Amino acid sequence: MTACSDILPWHDTAWQLLRAYIANERIPQSTLITGQVGLGKRKLVRFFAQLLLCETTCNDSFTPCGQCRSCTLFLSGTHPDFVEIKPESEDKDIGVDQIRGLLSQLRLTVQYQQYRVIVVYQAEKMNRSTANSFLKGLEEPPNRTAIILITDQLSLIPATIQSRCQKILIKTPSSETATHWLASNKVSGDLSLLLQLTHGAPLLAQEYAGSNAISIREKLFNHFCLLRSHKVSIVQVAAFCCDHHQFDLLAWINSWIVDLVKIRQTSANTSVRNIDLYDSLKKLSGNLDLQKLYDLYVATLELRVQLKQPINKNLAYEGFFIRWLAV
Ligand SMILES: [Zn+2]
Repeated sequence: MTACSDILPWHDTAWQLLRAYIANERIPQSTLITGQVGLGKRKLVRFFAQLLLCETTCNDSFTPCGQCRSCTLFLSGTHPDFVEIKPESEDKDIGVDQIRGLLSQLRLTVQYQQYRVIVVYQAEKMNRSTANSFLKGLEEPPNRTAIILITDQLSLIPATIQSRCQKILIKTPSSETATHWLASNKVSGDLSLLLQLTHGAPLLAQEYAGSNAISIREKLFNHFCLLRSHKVSIVQVAAFCCDHHQFDLLAWINSWIVDLVKIRQTSANTSVRNIDLYDSLKKLSGNLDLQKLYDLYVATLELRVQLKQPINKNLAYEGFFIRWLAV
């Protein structure tokens, strides 16, 4: 059963665990919250943090009061015992200086009577030296401090850190739950396609609906096809990708390549993911070299990682589309 409107339906299992920590007064010193992008991990963690900090929590409802001194400071973003750490920009790691700053803060006493809560967003962006500094901080846990790491890429979190944390996985909801949630939040459009594009993540699907992702995908797919007949230039398509970098374009392209491989191999449409594009994909698949398609598949995965680093994105996309033309 959902505790309140701040807890999303698919948070239930994780929320039961977090509630149990509070009910049993056993808050883990470090918790690692995982799950794919677009499931509202931050929302859940912030709710839990506010609850830990609240001075007048009604324990029966497990809901922060929203009015005490702590809640007021929390909601205005100025609570001295709530610390958030995140990369300074999308293509940067979490710096070792940020962690050192945190460690010196940990030596100070808690300002209010409740907990101190430290949240590290995109924890996978701690590089090796940052992670080592962080581990040192975990060796001598200060009292009444809860450290919460959030990541959607668990495999990038060093095993030494994982082993020191209580792990909580936020599961992707069923398509029924996700569709129902989107509809009840007045998200319109092709919900099934939106969920396909976001791997079933409702909050990301909601965001995509609000930013015309379906039409961007259609335009990108047109460019992808027209490149083969030289009706658009590589420079144009690369520029289009840079302009729409907020979307996971390479995941979309990757899924088209997977479908092209399937169509080349079987010609049946049963396992094709982008069923709405089947006819165009079939036409496109005609003269493609299977081995080069496999190579291009790998190239999409590599480029997706590279684009998270500070590189010239235009050049990187251009290089990729040159390879697409050579398939
Ligand atoms: Zn409160």
